Amino acid sequence: MKVIDAHIHPELYQPDQLELLLEQLGTAVDAIIAVSLHEDSCRTNLDLARVYSGKYFAAFGYHPEQPVPNVEVEQQLFAWIREHRSEAIAIGEVGLPYYNRTESEAKGNPFDLTPYIALLDRFIGLADELNKPIVLHAVYEDADIVCDLLEKHAVTAAHFHWFKGSVHTIKRMANNGYYISITPDVYYEEEIRELVRSYPTQQLMVETDGPWPYEGPFAGKTTLPDMVRDVVIEVALLKGLDLLEASEILYENTRRFYRIGEITQTD
Ligand SMILES: [Zn+2]
Repeated sequence: MKVIDAHIHPELYQPDQLELLLEQLGTAVDAIIAVSLHEDSCRTNLDLARVYSGKYFAAFGYHPEQPVPNVEVEQQLFAWIREHRSEAIAIGEVGLPYYNRTESEAKGNPFDLTPYIALLDRFIGLADELNKPIVLHAVYEDADIVCDLLEKHAVTAAHFHWFKGSVHTIKRMANNGYYISITPDVYYEEEIRELVRSYPTQQLMVETDGPWPYEGPFAGKTTLPDMVRDVVIEVALLKGLDLLEASEILYENTRRFYRIGEITQTD
């Protein structure tokens, strides 16, 4: 079965686990999309993408679940991304800090989303300028703000990873042609199972968001890229497709979205 892990954070793995992850490239999975948290992370991903060329694709960005960078750090990051544009598969991971914001608000502390929205607006502008797809961390009500920004820039190559949201937002995203990716939690989260049933098959991908740990049948297991094979099995079931057909569609969706050429088969 041909599979691509459409969203993973290799540099967050311990060295011995990273070795296992890299061994899976071209064997258990055909390729991965490795997203970046900040400039250091971009550099690590670029180094690995050069070594594992054609199997390890690097996206460059700044993860939203951390304080916004100061002007200097932001300018340096944007300059670095522009300089390495030819080696960027996408801009990401970028988005809005849903979890930090809601956690802060639950404790009674106000949270100012304005600088995050402004930064994301500049990242969407950068994706548009460099003609790259964009990888988004934006769930629930935050996704509507992101849809507004994408529509403003007329950017349609948007991948909402591990998406969760209202029926209204799901419809809006599907109609706008945005892609989403499904994680192993499709085995035990009814909300995600319903999302898979309702979202257009041609706009679905699979991901691990590794090293994030999962529950249900994956409790206690290290999250490695090959876990997407299980996700494909469940997506096939929910969509009423046979496994080979589902895997082919999900694989081609990922290649099409990320504009990946023919992947050389090593086995
Ligand atoms: Zn992520």
